[in-house]
Amino acid sequence: MTQRLWSDFVSELEPYVPGEQPRIDNLVKLNTNENPYGPSPQVAEAIKAALGDELRLYPPPNADRLKQAIADYHQVAVNQVFVGNGSDEVLAHTFNGLFRHGKPLLFPDITYSFYPVYCGLYEIEGCEIPLTDNFEIAVDDYLVPNGGIIFPNPNAPTGRLLSLDSIASLLRRNSDSVVCVDEAYIDFGGESAISLVDAFDNLLVIQTLSKSRSLAGLRLGFAIGHPTLIEALERIKNSFNSYPVSRLAIAGGVAAFADEDYFQKTCTAVIASRVTLVDAFEKLGFEVIPSAANFVLARHPDYKGEYLMSALRERNIIVRHFGAERIEQFLRITVGTPQQNTLLLAALKDIIV
Ligand SMILES: *Cc1c(COP(=O)(O)O)cnc(C)c1O
Repeated sequence: MTQRLWSDFVSELEPYVPGEQPRIDNLVKLNTNENPYGPSPQVAEAIKAALGDELRLYPPPNADRLKQAIADYHQVAVNQVFVGNGSDEVLAHTFNGLFRHGKPLLFPDITYSFYPVYCGLYEIEGCEIPLTDNFEIAVDDYLVPNGGIIFPNPNAPTGRLLSLDSIASLLRRNSDSVVCVDEAYIDFGGESAISLVDAFDNLLVIQTLSKSRSLAGLRLGFAIGHPTLIEALERIKNSFNSYPVSRLAIAGGVAAFADEDYFQKTCTAVIASRVTLVDAFEKLGFEVIPSAANFVLARHPDYKGEYLMSALRERNIIVRHFGAERIEQFLRITVGTPQQNTLLLAALKDIIV
């Protein structure tokens, strides 16, 4: 009944629906692309060290230590770095600050489903550009008048990677729009477009610590781009919440970037697991889209995606199925540990007779 107190605007919003986070023992959770390995042990130590009297103080509003760690790691200047409470927040500020130009924002028809949600929130017209039949981004299709371009690389939920050459060509031919590359999965097999930020003042690269650094629960994301783009994000942030990144998150984030060995080791393990998984899926008759991410999109010619998802669920394994056009036959499966892969494959062998 209290809905009568809502504004028309809130009534018409279509919010994002996150993958479920059930609390079930021994669940093989392969539905939200979390890292199967925990964060670096140094992260917990740093967070423990930050627990104490200092928590009564607001965090440094510019999260300077974290920005510096990210700038050093990626070899850019501090004024080329923006940090936020998860990359979803960084994306929100990007939509709000850099994409509201009264012209359509271009993104792939099959992509991260938060983009259309932010279009709704910030009253931006979204324009879906179809992927090719092989689920590839064709940069030539992005030459229409636009108020910005955004896509994940590797794309989600396809896992397909776009080359840096293609990204450079897109940037060159859209020099009056911000082109945002959402690199949530780049550490699992791609080359970051951060190397292009000095050459293109219209490029904004967004990354997260949720996937490759296994810190989805800490909520940290960042953007790297020309100082003017970063300044736009700072203006939005300081008009919204001046302390979005907590003291504990700053401490944990800095520690995560310091432990390069752990980072390399866990990324390599995930990539090795993906190779094994793709091979086994193909032997079971699945068609697998080539993935550079920590998940694969796959379909079986004889079984509907929705059916396989429920059959797996009965066996305590959860994967993601999207009802969207063109991919309703597919399952998106997060790459787990070798043990989780074994359980998944045994279950599938049991289901597929
Ligand atoms: C997971 C994901 C994000 C969100 O990451 P957070 O930092 O956890 O908010 C952003 N973009 C894509 C494509 C993702 O898959």
